[in-house]
Amino acid sequence: MGVRIHVLGAGSILPRAGYGCAGYALVLDGSDDITLLDCGPGSIRNLAAAGLRVENVKRIVFSHYHLDHCLDLFALIFARRNPTVKFAHLSVYGPVGLRRLIEDTPKGLGHYAVDSDIEWNEIEMDARGFGRFRAAGMRFTGAANGHCGEAVSWRIEGPGGGAEKGSTPDWCLAYSGDTGDNPVVARIAKKADLFLCECSFAEEEAQPNHLTPLQAGRLAATAGARKLVLTHFYPSLRPEDAAARAADVFDGPIETARDGSTHLPDELPAE
Ligand SMILES: [Zn+2]
Ligand SMILES: [Zn+2]
Repeated sequence: MGVRIHVLGAGSILPRAGYGCAGYALVLDGSDDITLLDCGPGSIRNLAAAGLRVENVKRIVFSHYHLDHCLDLFALIFARRNPTVKFAHLSVYGPVGLRRLIEDTPKGLGHYAVDSDIEWNEIEMDARGFGRFRAAGMRFTGAANGHCGEAVSWRIEGPGGGAEKGSTPDWCLAYSGDTGDNPVVARIAKKADLFLCECSFAEEEAQPNHLTPLQAGRLAATAGARKLVLTHFYPSLRPEDAAARAADVFDGPIETARDGSTHLPDELPAE
């Protein structure tokens, strides 16, 4: 079973046409169900432009709770109050901090930010910094990456594998979330068919808690990822320049995300 990623937001919190706050819709072939990887401001609105229906959002998986990655959770909760649309049951997953987000936000936003029909799953990382869950036949493995206290990168293995030891999933994706240059990200993206990796600033503007194009490319090369998709561009970084720098250190195909772009795992070579 194949999978595709629709980019809902390929930028940062700073306004830039075509590059909204972080949000990605993961859709399995033959299914209308949507799994959102992060859900920053504008993600819900951009579902329509991607040809996706808001009522089909079945789960959200957060990488962390910086506002450019999570605020549209409450836009979705408010949308779900609309009596004319029949919404799917919604499950939300994220690292520690999710419960506080859910419980404390309504103190400011009021009952509009409450949805008692949503299932919350706060995923704790173990002593080694890894946490796991399964949903819709997919296996999610998170790794604490140090971008901020709770931040994790996610590895997502598709249906068709993982249940028995040694079995092979149909595909494997990795999503860096926001991260610094941390080797655990290469581990989480090991041999991923598609590695969706943040690439915030050019080398000359490098920040400790974000990646530059060269850092993203090196992580992809270390991981042995089959395809690199660069995203989370701040306004000063031109995506085409980022791809060119990353290509200095990563030999595989590189794509750049933009709001509305779609990305598929790299095809396995014919036997
Ligand atoms: Zn962040
Ligand atoms: Zn961010």
